[in-house]
Amino acid sequence: MSVLIKNGRIITADADYSADIFIDGETIHTIGKNIPHKADTVIDATDKLIFPGGIDPHVHLDMPFMGTFSSDNYETGTRAALFGGTTTVIDFILQKQGHSLQDALTEWSGRASGNAIGDYSFHMAVTDFNESTKKEIINMVEKEGITSFKTFMAYKGALMIDDRQMIGLMEEVKQRGGMVTVHATNGDMIDYLIAKHRGEGKLSPVYHYLSQPEVTEAEASERFVDMANFTGCPAYIVHLTCEGALNAVRSATKRNQNVFVETCIQYLLLDASLYEQNFDGAKWVMSPPLREKKDQETLWAGINQGIVNIVATDHCPFKWEQKQMGKDDFSKIPNGHPAIENRMELLYSEGVNKGRISLNKYVEVACTNPAKIFGMFPRKGTIAVGYDADIVLFDPKEKHKLSATTHHMNVDYSGYEGWELTGKVKTVLLRGRIAIDKNECLIDRGFGQFIKRKKVSSKI
Ligand SMILES: [Zn+2]
Repeated sequence: MSVLIKNGRIITADADYSADIFIDGETIHTIGKNIPHKADTVIDATDKLIFPGGIDPHVHLDMPFMGTFSSDNYETGTRAALFGGTTTVIDFILQKQGHSLQDALTEWSGRASGNAIGDYSFHMAVTDFNESTKKEIINMVEKEGITSFKTFMAYKGALMIDDRQMIGLMEEVKQRGGMVTVHATNGDMIDYLIAKHRGEGKLSPVYHYLSQPEVTEAEASERFVDMANFTGCPAYIVHLTCEGALNAVRSATKRNQNVFVETCIQYLLLDASLYEQNFDGAKWVMSPPLREKKDQETLWAGINQGIVNIVATDHCPFKWEQKQMGKDDFSKIPNGHPAIENRMELLYSEGVNKGRISLNKYVEVACTNPAKIFGMFPRKGTIAVGYDADIVLFDPKEKHKLSATTHHMNVDYSGYEGWELTGKVKTVLLRGRIAIDKNECLIDRGFGQFIKRKKVSSKI
């Protein structure tokens, strides 16, 4: 099966040019003008921008939580991602304390394998680092192709590891060619504030926000960056939201340290005023919470300074009925919101179209850096000969509205209901197959492949 995409304008992280693309099987065979090969399918991309398939390195599909699951499974979640121009996602396996990493991998693979429509990979969240976990790291890197290890500095008793475990994990992961990533908030401070607010009968969603002030994230980010510097382990902060935390990373650059930073689309576009409306604010209850306008400015600046490397989503949807678990107590609201489908279009419309970032920067933070940082380069993340033919045809002029009535995510509300965007994903190819066209998904459950990743470093 071959495809020829004609008359498009190709945008990568470092180029912007007009050419045709010839795809043979799953990969890009030729890029150029007047390509002589005959193709089974010809796509006319006149007036379209051509991007590499988006990569969202922070999603939670079918994630077990308090007796329920996040409402998008691998089928619905990766399908929604494809509709929005994201062809590959990286999900998080959560080790159960007292159990092995291998047990967790088996459980997560069981839910994903045969169900995903788009391509996927896994980070391994290490929630219990001990002598036997330590021995499993090499196998994850060398055999399973899982080269990033997530840690939590919050959620004591469930997910959190202490600083001693963090140092031990960093030493081991560094030796094996992996990276340690972190949810950097100070769990003890947050637990204290949650208990205090509950004790005072302050139970509405706004107290979720008030229980996680900026200092809880800034403090943990600085501590994590210091531990990474001490051990020399490649390090990455997930869903960084605020000025204080980003300044900890900026300070570290003065001693020539490089720590990768991810933010999420919601932290660039939404702010904490959404929590001021009764229980409706539960739609945006996530951790860390939405911040303030000044933090949005910091994050946009961080992207342009090259300090914020990736824009992800932390997609972790719960239906409105599931959110009701916290109707009378903010601390019981399932954390997370839907965004997997909206990231690429929101970032284009609010970022490129409004002059906050360049087209090349857009591709860099949404497609290329996730592939480079997480060991999927040179296979995914750009448009070049030999790479997977993961390609998005994008109409930069088309206007449309986001709504729960039209989105493909399995959740009955939108965090962006009624937002009017300029720029729409029209056609998406995944490994040479037309996955999305004319607002229809043309590939089936099971098409998505697990992507084994290579060893990584603090250089890209
Ligand atoms: Zn997350």
